[in-house]
Amino acid sequence: MANKYRILIIEDEINIVNFIKVKLEANGYQTISANGMRDGIMMLTSHCPDLVILDLGLPDADGMEVIQIIRKHSLLPIIVLSARSGEMDKVQALDQGANDYMTKPFGTEELLARIRSVFRNQILMNSVNKSEQYISGKLSIDFAARQVFMGEEEIHLTRTEFSILALLAKNSGKLLSYDEIIRQVWFLSDDGSIKKLQVNMANIRKKLGETPGANLYIFNELGVGYRME
Ligand code: CA
Repeated sequence: MANKYRILIIEDEINIVNFIKVKLEANGYQTISANGMRDGIMMLTSHCPDLVILDLGLPDADGMEVIQIIRKHSLLPIIVLSARSGEMDKVQALDQGANDYMTKPFGTEELLARIRSVFRNQILMNSVNKSEQYISGKLSIDFAARQVFMGEEEIHLTRTEFSILALLAKNSGKLLSYDEIIRQVWFLSDDGSIKKLQVNMANIRKKLGETPGANLYIFNELGVGYRME
């Protein structure tokens, strides 16, 4: 279950955080939480969530700012969960790039349905030009199921390893720079990012059965980036 969806909740009301966590985890999601913008951005870079549930009234910033920061770097899905019920608040959040907007008080079944809907749309979006599968030699990747196979055998990757491999596979034929990969996978880059990428890449290659010097599936353009066939 290493690859299941991870949801970051940025919200300062601890009761709401706990309430959402229990519901999401009961429905098979991993959850992490942050009580403000600063922690939230840190969690984004260190935990690579698949979706963010965002409160607008945060103690250290307005949630709108968080939407702007995320959209500057990525298309990470955002569902706003706010006490602000004015039409203009919704319009502004959606225009900034939030995928959905729910007002408090909210029903958990509705929240779950909206999360499923966001993930469904994302899979649809990804499959407009690309198939749901990547196949090259013995390697196959099922993006929707987040599974990787070598022949008949399933290869167990961590969430981060899967994100890197899926990103390269979805952009097969294209050289992705280290920086591009880091921003897509870890959101923001810091000093240790390249090292982190290299360590993950070494693990991916080992799991795929690649030996040093023989690049069967992933090509490294030294000093520039990685590319898959
Ligand atoms: Ca709040």
